[in-house]
Parts: sequence; C-alpha cells; structure tokens
Amino acid sequence: YQGKRGTADIVIYSGTGVAHSHQWLVVQAELRHALERDELVLHYQPKVNLPDGAVIALEALVRWEHPERGLLPPGVFLPAAEHSGLIVPLTEWVLRRALTDQLGWTAAGQSWAVSVNVSVRNLEVAGFPDLVAALLAETGTPPERLVLEVTETALAGDVERVERVLAQVAALGVGLSVDDFGAGFTSLSHLRGQPVAEIKIDRKFVADVTHDPQSRAIVRSVIELAHGLGSRVTAEGVETAEVYRWLIDAGCDEAQGYLIGRPVPWPQVDAGIFGLPGE
Ligand code: C2E
Ligand code: CA
Ligand code: CA
Ligand code: CA
Repeated sequence: YQGKRGTADIVIYSGTGVAHSHQWLVVQAELRHALERDELVLHYQPKVNLPDGAVIALEALVRWEHPERGLLPPGVFLPAAEHSGLIVPLTEWVLRRALTDQLGWTAAGQSWAVSVNVSVRNLEVAGFPDLVAALLAETGTPPERLVLEVTETALAGDVERVERVLAQVAALGVGLSVDDFGAGFTSLSHLRGQPVAEIKIDRKFVADVTHDPQSRAIVRSVIELAHGLGSRVTAEGVETAEVYRWLIDAGCDEAQGYLIGRPVPWPQVDAGIFGLPGE
C-alpha cells in the first residue's frame, strides 16, 4: 500500500499485484458487503509477561474471509477501509466481536485482557468514547479488560482532537497502548498528563537486537523511557529464543511474536504458560 490519505493515488497491494483506484473502488464496495454479510473474522495473538511467560492479553487482528480470494490479511483492505470511512463501522464490528469473545474466555476461566487496534480515523469521529462506553455496557466487560492500541504516527495527526478523545477513553478506565513505537519520540509528548498503560516497540527494531547495536540502543532506551513514564513496555515480533532472552535481560515487561504464538481464532489460542525457551 502506498499513497496518502485523501489523495487519488491510493493503490492497494493484492497477492496478484498493485491495483489502482478503479480496483480500489471495487474493494470498497466489496468490503461494505463483507460487513453486511459478516465475512470478517478476528484472530488473536497472545501477549505474555516476562520473564514467566504467562499469557496476559490477546490482541485482536482482523481478517477477511473473502468468498473467492480466501483469507485476506488486514494490509490488503484496511487502507481502503480507512480512505472510504468504512473503518468506522469496521472498528465497531471489531470492538463488539472482541468484547464478546473476551466474555467467552472469561467464562472459560481466563483473565486475559483484549487489545483492539484503533485507527486514527476512529479518533477523529465524534462519539468514539461514547461508542466504547456503550459497547462495554452492552457486553458487561470491565473497562480494565480492554486495551486500545493506537499507532505512534496517529499521535502526530490532529493532535488536540486526538488528545481529547484519548483522554475521554482513558477516563472510562480503558488502557491505552502506543503501537509501533520507535521512530518519533516526540509524539509521546502529546500524551503528557495521560495514563499510557503500554508502549509497544515496533518489530523492526526488536528483530535485530541480537546482531545490530543501533537496534539494541533504541530498544534499551524505549524500555527506559517507558518505565520513566510509568508505562509497561511490550516487544512485538519476537521470533527467536535468543531475542526473547535478550529482552528479559534488558528488563522488557511483555513480549509478543511468532515464537510465542501466531494469530489464531480464540478457541485455538494455546493457554499454556510459555516458559523460557530452550531452558
Ligand atoms: P500490528 O498492530 O502492529 O500487529 C502486528 C502484526 O505483526 C500482525 O500482522 C501480526 O500477525 C504480525 N506479527 C506478529 N508477530 C509477528 C512475528 O513474530 N513476526 C512477524 N513477521 N510478524 C508478526 P497483521 O495481522 O497482518 O496486521 C497488520 C496490521 O494491521 C496490524 O499491525 C494493525 O496495525 C492492523 N490491524 C489489524 N487488525 C486491525 C483492526 O482490527 N483494526 C485496525 N484499525 N487495524 C488493524
Ligand atoms: Ca497492534
Ligand atoms: Ca505493532
Ligand atoms: Ca513482567
């Protein structure tokens, strides 16, 4: 996916190549039907505590069960959803389904929270905090069992509005997480005075900690920064036991990645505690 929001040069990348705005409109129309026909599904990826490896939350990651093209990852259709505004009903669907699934695993005896990714477009729409409050009430979910992940770059947008909306959401008792953190430390200043429950280090830094001194320096300073702000810090994209152990030594609080578990429908999530690999 390339191009800027609000411009006509949006393209999407599909398995078959790069499509231009015509096909992009097709995706948009199909996505509208997908929402009506309930073709979206959520897969969940566990997030574990370090160093004991206990599962503490599941992150909801949306997929589209396309009748002809099979299971599509979000990178293929989210840009079209964001550009068209369909991200608003899509997020409502994701939130409702994630909170309902969360009730399911609570009933099965698990105390895992659920993390939901939120687009900056959602934060620009009036009434987002009311929607979250209504869905918490509708499903009877305790607010501390919900975490909303907002990408770091979102915090550089319409800053005042986003700040206000995030403050309203945090006031509900919902946890806020800054996703894909690593590039712009400055955006954190917009969150001063707000409780940030979690900072997630982008996987492109995490993957390289065992062999790249610069990535190591970045990850170490994000951990220190997060702790200085009273936030927990999560490393994403943990794929090897070596990285997992390095993160424990560096004082990282939580980890997520293919080493621990790939995203799957929730009844298939491995509830077992993930111990120190290779030990
Ligand atoms: P993200 O929030 O940073 O999620 C992590 C992505 O990295 C997921 O890709 C996950 O499957 C993948 N991943 C996890 N562990 C590993 C690993 O060890 N190695 C590698 N190579 N990849 C790993 P996915 O599911 O394709 O999602 C891509 C992005 O789409 C997400 O990035 C998130 O920004 C967005 N997204 C997904 N679901 C939603 C949603 O419901 N709403 C919104 N607004 N965005 C969503
Ligand atoms: Ca995320
Ligand atoms: Ca991320
Ligand atoms: Ca810990």
